[in-house]
Amino acid sequence: MPDLIHNLEAVQQRIAMAAHVAGRDTRSVHLLAVSKTFPAEDVRAAYAAGQRAFGENYVQEALTKIETLADLRATLEWHFIGPLQSNKTRPVAEQFDWVHSVDRLKIAQRLSEQRPDNLPPLNVCLQVNISGEASKSGVSIPEAVEVAQAIAALPKLNLRGLMAIPEPAGGIDEQRVPHRHLRELFERLCNDGLELDTLSMGMSSDLEAAVLEGATIVRVGTAIFGARDYSN
Ligand SMILES: *Cc1c(COP(=O)(O)O)cnc(C)c1O
Repeated sequence: MPDLIHNLEAVQQRIAMAAHVAGRDTRSVHLLAVSKTFPAEDVRAAYAAGQRAFGENYVQEALTKIETLADLRATLEWHFIGPLQSNKTRPVAEQFDWVHSVDRLKIAQRLSEQRPDNLPPLNVCLQVNISGEASKSGVSIPEAVEVAQAIAALPKLNLRGLMAIPEPAGGIDEQRVPHRHLRELFERLCNDGLELDTLSMGMSSDLEAAVLEGATIVRVGTAIFGARDYSN
């Protein structure tokens, strides 16, 4: 899959360039390859090219892929980034390394209860509705402080930081605004005493803006794997 390898390199170069402009160390920005809707073979090809962290949105699809790629499990990270219903938390708690899309305390409580004792704490991010639209999931900025404190107290979770999916915007200056708001919230939580190290923000179309505002994980699908086909 030469395209995939080439795309992966191009995305890494975009990250490196943005980090350079921001005066940041490139190694402080981690690439999460979002493999939803793409087959396990594509994940294996990206893995062979050195990619180690993969993001999935749909529980059933992810579980099938995780099983198919069980031989790589010890050196590959699975990140759940999609909407999570409370009746689907158990396999996510059992199979994933990270969940970026924790959008309410109840989901966090279930993940903590269901995380197996023989595994390290599940890394989680609190998803924040940064654009303020009613349709998007995530806690509001005013709610975030209290919910983050409560999640940080759960025994089998490790609250690593914040995640957002801003509304698409045209130019880089406009794209930076919601990312900046997420970073400001992150800084406030750190000042309140939470030990956070992760800002999960930036996708194929706005990763430069996100890196300029401090993203530590960019979640990139299309620019690596190509356009998604949802017909099956
Ligand atoms: C699909 C998805 C991505 C990747 O989006 P692209 O535009 O394809 O890079 C990132 N984050 C989340 C939460 C997603 O659902």
